Amino acid sequence: MADWIREPLHDGWAQALRADEMLYDSATDHQRLRVFSNPRFGRVLTLDDVVQTTEGDNFIYHEMMTHVPILAHGAARQVCIVGGGDGGMAREVLKHRRVEKVTMVEIDAAVVDFSKRYLPMLSKGAFDDPRLELVIADGAGFMRDTAGGFDVIIVDSTDPAGPGEVLFSDTFYGHAKRALSPGGILVTQNGVPFMQGAELTNTMRAFKPLFADATCYLATVPTYAGGPMAFGWGTDGDARTLPLAELAARFAASGLEPGYYTPEVHLAAFALPGYVRRLMP
Ligand code: SAM
Repeated sequence: MADWIREPLHDGWAQALRADEMLYDSATDHQRLRVFSNPRFGRVLTLDDVVQTTEGDNFIYHEMMTHVPILAHGAARQVCIVGGGDGGMAREVLKHRRVEKVTMVEIDAAVVDFSKRYLPMLSKGAFDDPRLELVIADGAGFMRDTAGGFDVIIVDSTDPAGPGEVLFSDTFYGHAKRALSPGGILVTQNGVPFMQGAELTNTMRAFKPLFADATCYLATVPTYAGGPMAFGWGTDGDARTLPLAELAARFAASGLEPGYYTPEVHLAAFALPGYVRRLMP
């Protein structure tokens, strides 16, 4: 009989995914890593039993964390991804032809190795792109020491527990801000506010004194269950106030063919419901 993998993420509420076939199950130095196949979502990657990404719905998360800041910026050449070991984020960033270099800082080499083998449909060759530099290191230490110059920094972290916890600290955000080029944009994954409100509040509290424009935007990803998920947005530039016509022109010129992102969705994603606004300091 097939197992149901229960995600131990929220107090008093859980989602479960049926694992018809367990393709991989092993503990790395950092976390327990599993891949299984599910009839609705295809291959599913979990770290410590928390869903990280699925073959079926990853496009929503990856498109919204890449195309929103990169198209809003308009001239991003240097991009940094913190985390992102499955390669899905690099896949979407590298679709932007003007991006010259992607520095991806992932703490766990095992996630990369094993994603290449069991989840090649996520990276789609991104690890072989000469524009990608993979650094196996703690993202917090990297950000403290880097010379920076990034036009866009994307924090594709696990939730704030285990190795991912430091990526939600004020110190890390301060170092990330310093590593941005003028007009640069920092985006972060901030969980599902209905379920993990404190995560968003803490990030926004840290962003407010750091950035002239500090807010979040939303997208609904089925396996990050419990409502729309939030992405932190911090910049000193005015990229968020771009008119639709300009954004649409950039999008048309990009040649992208996304499954979720459209310029209209991009702008609408910054419209926040009351309960999310109230979580923002
Ligand atoms: N989108 C997923 C989610 O929110 O459920 C997370 C994606 S997964 C690619 C996150 C990656 O962050 C994992 O590969 C993990 O190893 C990596 N990670 C966790 N802590 C890190 C740290 N301190 N520095 C760099 N990478 C880290």
